Amino acid sequence: MSVWCLVAESRVYLYVKEAISVGGLNPWDHQWVTLEEPKLVVVLDPSLPSRYLWLGVYEIEDAQRRVKFAACQRNNIWSFYVPASQGTPGSFEAKTVKHEGYWSTSKDKPSKFPWPTPDPAWLGKTAFLSRLDKLEANAERVSWLGKSLCRLCGCQNGSQEFQFDDWVWPEGYRHYITDHYVRPSEQFEDYIATAVGSPDDPD
Ligand SMILES: [Zn+2]
Repeated sequence: MSVWCLVAESRVYLYVKEAISVGGLNPWDHQWVTLEEPKLVVVLDPSLPSRYLWLGVYEIEDAQRRVKFAACQRNNIWSFYVPASQGTPGSFEAKTVKHEGYWSTSKDKPSKFPWPTPDPAWLGKTAFLSRLDKLEANAERVSWLGKSLCRLCGCQNGSQEFQFDDWVWPEGYRHYITDHYVRPSEQFEDYIATAVGSPDDPD
């Protein structure tokens, strides 16, 4: 959990971006550096807990200062948030996005992500894939700039990811399950069973 505060909103019409101040800098005048931090999610509307707002975390700087912020775009409005201390008026807690199907780049290198390990004895594959189909049909698709390569066979394996609730998983995730018998994490397997229900339920 981290605490953030909305500091500015900027309307964007075609190529015109309303000038604003985020920590003393206008973000449209500076190059945004994506920070190696997990994205944040916040509940957009407490009456609709399944609607989450996804924020990237960035940094901008000039000669005098460096400003960290989180931002997202909805319709024509960009919203900017800065880190705040607990109890600041208008502040709220953001959750960290939960990742599934992101792998370490090498089997031997320590990483925050696991290495995909096949588990041919797992019996839940068909039911899981059927639930995954339903979830992906309703999830948001986001494109990356590059392509992902399968860690196990080297094939080109997707250039998009899915976002749903506070979870994110790559387009190529299912390849590891269908072709390599990799078993989902317990957390994601539980989540998808609760979110989708029985794989045989009609939509
Ligand atoms: Zn593969």
